Amino acid sequence: MKRKITLLIIASIVGLIALSAVQLYLVNNTYQLKKDSFIKQTRDEVSLIDDHLTKIDSMRSEWRDYMIETAAEYKQGLIQRGQVLDRFGQKTAEMNPEFLSVLREVLKENAGSSRVQFHKKVRSIIILDSLQNDTLYSKETDSKSYILGDDFGGEEYELGQSTSYSEYTYTTLRDGREVSEMLRLNFETETLMNIEGRENGVLLQMKGFLLISTTIFLFVFGVLFYSIKNLITQKKIAEVKTDFINNISHEFKTPLTTLALATEMLRNEGKQHLDTIDIIERQNQKLQKLLDQVLDNSLNYSEIHLNKEFINAQDFLTALLDDFELAMQEVNMDLVREFNLKEEQILIDPFYLSTAISNMLENAVKYNERVPKLLFRATMDATMSIVIEDNGIGVLAKDQNNLFEKFYRAGNKETHDVKGLGLGLYYANQVVIAHGGSIVVKSSSGDGSVFTIELPLT
Ligand code: ADP
Repeated sequence: MKRKITLLIIASIVGLIALSAVQLYLVNNTYQLKKDSFIKQTRDEVSLIDDHLTKIDSMRSEWRDYMIETAAEYKQGLIQRGQVLDRFGQKTAEMNPEFLSVLREVLKENAGSSRVQFHKKVRSIIILDSLQNDTLYSKETDSKSYILGDDFGGEEYELGQSTSYSEYTYTTLRDGREVSEMLRLNFETETLMNIEGRENGVLLQMKGFLLISTTIFLFVFGVLFYSIKNLITQKKIAEVKTDFINNISHEFKTPLTTLALATEMLRNEGKQHLDTIDIIERQNQKLQKLLDQVLDNSLNYSEIHLNKEFINAQDFLTALLDDFELAMQEVNMDLVREFNLKEEQILIDPFYLSTAISNMLENAVKYNERVPKLLFRATMDATMSIVIEDNGIGVLAKDQNNLFEKFYRAGNKETHDVKGLGLGLYYANQVVIAHGGSIVVKSSSGDGSVFTIELPLT
């Protein structure tokens, strides 16, 4: 049974994890799909810029012409490659402000609601030669970059690439004579865009889906959590019941064995006839008391019907402690009483409350491996507080919260050497609650316990 429940819990947790993984996979897939469609939609909007903008085209041509002329100077050996690249940089910086202002206007008109950044970037410039091509610039190998438009990093999306081939004829002096030479050039550019706040845009589109899937997940998680909690409680109850049945059968065994023995003796008609009847009577009473304890002590505080009366607190407690000492006269123990009760009357049910306090006093002696030293202190201000302090085996921290539960017995070995049904403290707590009060315990194992009862005066 125990193994079955543990297996069931493990299986449901594994199931929930698998379900979460599938859910995450689906959410991620939807996010990717939405992202792709968002990018496609923006790309369509932005592609208009490239197609229809003459102003941007003419700027592009201006840069290209400048680049061809500069490349021709380089080919004639008038400038070095480094100077060529510097000049490209200067030209780009010079043209970019105007390019940007045109771009802003066009984006405002065409790119709808999305915030798009856009630029054209040189990929490579190669001077073609029948012997050997000369790469004047390549984006891959040069650290510089030539960009017209927004300078953005991060995720970028390509809108297109363009390659143009140009021939340019120039005259140069060779051996003192003017000759015409031809420059053949390959020029590659790319157009890129970046969408600011893309994540938010996509997430906004997915908000309904995210809301539904989170709600379903939380619902399933909640149901599972609740079921597991219930299962654990059931398991605990089942364990406590088994313990209780073991305890009660153990408690009933001794008087029953003695009764059987006494009956056997009676049958033999021996001399000890009268003594045997006494034994039978005593054991019978013991069985009756045990049964009453089980029945009475199982009451819940809402089922307890109190017959309250005004009673002098000091008289009530003194009589209770006197009775307790009388019952314990064969036990070597030490009980100290401390009263500070202002001669006040309290409104209580003396029968229920004295049984509850007696249970606690008996425990102080029962769960003790030394000569029991008990301190009973009763004080009064707005409420009456009763403290029962002992030098017994104490209660482990893990047991302290459960001590007042029905049939609960602490887990330490010493407890199991003492007979009991785990009902005394449950009963005491229910009675005190029925009076509108509370009980708390403070203890460190092996070092005694302090039980404090707080009771309203009326
Ligand atoms: P029972 O004594 O029949 O087991 P109780 O309800 O009176 O039942 O007590 C519950 C458990 O609380 C006991 O089994 C014992 O482990 C623990 N306990 C109660 N009183 C004390 C005490 N004074 N010192 C140490 N442990 C105690």
